[in-house]
Amino acid sequence: MNVRDSEAAAALLSAAGYEQAASEADADLVIVNSCSVRAKAEEKALGKLGLLCASRRDHPGRLVGLMGCMAQRLGEAIFKKIPGLDFSVGTRRAGAIPRLVARVLAGERGLLETSSQDEIPDVPDAHVEDMGFSAFVTILLGCNRRCAYCIVPDVRGREYSRPAREILAEIAALARHGVREVTLLGQSVMNYGRMNPVWDETDPPSPGGYREPFPRLLEAVAAIPGVLRIRFTSGHPSGCTDELVRAMASLPQVCHHLHLPVQSGSDPILKAMRRGYTRERYLEAVGKLRAAMPDFALTTDVIVGFPGETEADFEATRTLMDEAGFDNAFIFKYSPRPGTPAAQMPDDVSDEEKMRRNQVLLADQDRRGSALNEALVGTVQEVLVEGRSLRNAERWAGRSPGNKIVVFDPVEGLEPGTLAKVAITRAAPQTLYGEVVR
Ligand code: SF4
Repeated sequence: MNVRDSEAAAALLSAAGYEQAASEADADLVIVNSCSVRAKAEEKALGKLGLLCASRRDHPGRLVGLMGCMAQRLGEAIFKKIPGLDFSVGTRRAGAIPRLVARVLAGERGLLETSSQDEIPDVPDAHVEDMGFSAFVTILLGCNRRCAYCIVPDVRGREYSRPAREILAEIAALARHGVREVTLLGQSVMNYGRMNPVWDETDPPSPGGYREPFPRLLEAVAAIPGVLRIRFTSGHPSGCTDELVRAMASLPQVCHHLHLPVQSGSDPILKAMRRGYTRERYLEAVGKLRAAMPDFALTTDVIVGFPGETEADFEATRTLMDEAGFDNAFIFKYSPRPGTPAAQMPDDVSDEEKMRRNQVLLADQDRRGSALNEALVGTVQEVLVEGRSLRNAERWAGRSPGNKIVVFDPVEGLEPGTLAKVAITRAAPQTLYGEVVR
């Protein structure tokens, strides 16, 4: 989501007449887009802002701004921490950036613009001329779930779903600019349209008879000419309805891949986290998706060392990860965020133990991921061609519907942004290798 917000800030500044610098060293204006989800992310942003302000010694007049969750969370307090900061703009006010920059250029300093929790956000389009063929599109902002450890509802505000018409117009424009893959974004993306109406009576009815707003949106995006692939993130088991599964399985553009954060495999911990599902419910949702899509790929997020997590809770997470069969997992050590309910609980798992649990899950995941990749040797994967491989410019790379990187030799007539069929001949833990088949 921050990548998308950064693109929007860049597009707004381009539209206001500014040019993108070739590198950070050349830039007369640098904006740090910040994340508050973990303490470490905030520390990094503060360190970076300090360095940028100090860099004015070599780059006089350089403007330094902050945007995103940390700007929203800290408000005025950011100017005490970083006295040289020119402006700070919160999560629902990205549209204000060009105006703030103009005011700083006119001599003002220390400008703050944050939003209220309920404010309807401005979601500026993120188009720039050279978009590439893959783009993020925000469809839902904020989150109403209030998981015990999470700062996001405080900094990104209450859930707001953009009108379907606005999203479809944005994606149609992206497709006209050559975008072939869109990733629909929301903190709890399948909640799309549950809190505010997104379709109105003048919108054409769903040809597939979808009644739920999110599957209906997937169907409408799939109908846009030029859109070859649709992804969405992040999911929640409560969103895995029959309609959603039907849409995923039957719309050819929708990738058979879901990022479905589980966080823990232990019911007492899931309850303490206020995740709103049990281990059984989570596995049921996964079972439903797999039954409808035999080639379904699943990725997740896990937190280790949540307050009160015992060895038995941790082992429950290990067994759940095996049962669910994750293709990939992002594993985080718990850190308390100020103002969240979990921050009131004793942070009673030591750092060493958090580290150990993290390492154990990473090693498990490496084995699991390698075995799942090995099982793809001999299959043919449809790959969206991205261009030259980062590691070996002689070869090309792209992504499978399951979001795996596939490396292959280029063949004549193959262009970035098109689909190719690649027969998989070899697998490494993070990459598949193969040959293009006609
Ligand atoms: S679903 Fe939970 S973890 Fe995700 S953003 Fe909302 S409150 Fe945070």
